[in-house]
Amino acid sequence: MNVLVINCGSSSLKYQLINSDSEEVLAKGLCERIGIDGAIVHQPKGGDKVKTEVAMPNHTEAVKLVIEKLTDPQVGVIKSLDEIDAVGHRIVHGGEKFATSVVLDGEVLKAIEDCNDLAPLHNPANLIGINACKAIMPNVPMVGVFDTAFHQTMPKKAYLYGLPLSYYEKYKVRRYGFHGTSHDFVSKRAAEILGKDRKDLKIIVCHLGNGASISAVKNGESVDTSMGLTPLEGLIMGTRSGDLDPAIITFIAGKEGISADEVINVCNKKSGVLGLSGGVSSDFRDLAAASAEGNKAAETALETYAYRVAKYIGAYAAAMNGVDVIAFTAGVGENDAKVREAVGQYLGFLGANIDPVKNDVHGEEAVISSADAKVTVMVVPTNEELAIARETVRLVGA
Ligand code: ADP
Repeated sequence: MNVLVINCGSSSLKYQLINSDSEEVLAKGLCERIGIDGAIVHQPKGGDKVKTEVAMPNHTEAVKLVIEKLTDPQVGVIKSLDEIDAVGHRIVHGGEKFATSVVLDGEVLKAIEDCNDLAPLHNPANLIGINACKAIMPNVPMVGVFDTAFHQTMPKKAYLYGLPLSYYEKYKVRRYGFHGTSHDFVSKRAAEILGKDRKDLKIIVCHLGNGASISAVKNGESVDTSMGLTPLEGLIMGTRSGDLDPAIITFIAGKEGISADEVINVCNKKSGVLGLSGGVSSDFRDLAAASAEGNKAAETALETYAYRVAKYIGAYAAAMNGVDVIAFTAGVGENDAKVREAVGQYLGFLGANIDPVKNDVHGEEAVISSADAKVTVMVVPTNEELAIARETVRLVGA
């Protein structure tokens, strides 16, 4: 069957049409600047990207344009809407209500809306995307796949903060974790590649993209992860600070004469390696180039980044009382051999030795640890869209 996978943000909408039998991507694209002016970038399988500037006042119009492109005589890949058998939606926050993917019906939509409070920037946009698709494809079954769901297996000791319990009881303030679809996909695939059952393994997944998080996956279940109530906690990321002393927020607010919300905005958008490098870039290719040219701040940003990743790996090896596999994934994890090497320098004590020759891989599945390593270190490209398509078929497939 053909599954349309939708990842909807407040002013953007990413899509992929996937044939779930062959698992081929038939077409993919992105609607940008929805509600501002609008542009759609569409790419059919084997074809070039085509960008069209077109007014997109709202998400319903954006979905209509996606359908137009998918059925277009020139750049389309299907004849009509009837060839879309199901839609899978990425949903950021499922709170404690969703530990697995769900078919999106009336009651479920209300429960997702109840989670808006926990992800005010993301969930409302996800819901707008769902409603836009429902308006245009009322009879097509739809499934929601949550970024938080895979981490719902975390034990209390991993998800509670050291705060008054009443904040958890009243407001559900706790660690939720994100990138769950990726941590699930990559840990499963890592076990498959090794010919082992995930249930017998202790796996640490390092999802290092623009956003970045680490998870400890023990016997097939997430037992800890670095992102928290929001995606701001944990690793140093492209533009996010990761872990901080919370007292810094009001300290900076006082010094700079700005509000706590404004400081949080800086922590989300102007920090991470971008901030640490003094504004060089959030992109690791730019940082590597700047560092090679002698930019000390860029060099420090890269060192600080790798050190934080390594500290989390150490923590999660302790959390699971051991580790069998460390898997690197996402834009940086899959492509940046230097970052993997820098992290690997701290891992000798675990017996997770990276082989410099094997580590010279970019965006492909590989075992990169040395033959005598006690812990297998791997590169496992993630594919969140495929994971969403598979979940959709699992729930509504024939
Ligand atoms: P997102 O969180 O947006 O899904 P990705 O997982 O696609 O992010 O990661 C994007 C990041 O990956 C880029 O910002 C860049 O830092 C990094 N990246 C992509 N390709 C490379 C590469 N060839 N070498 C080093 N870093 C790369």
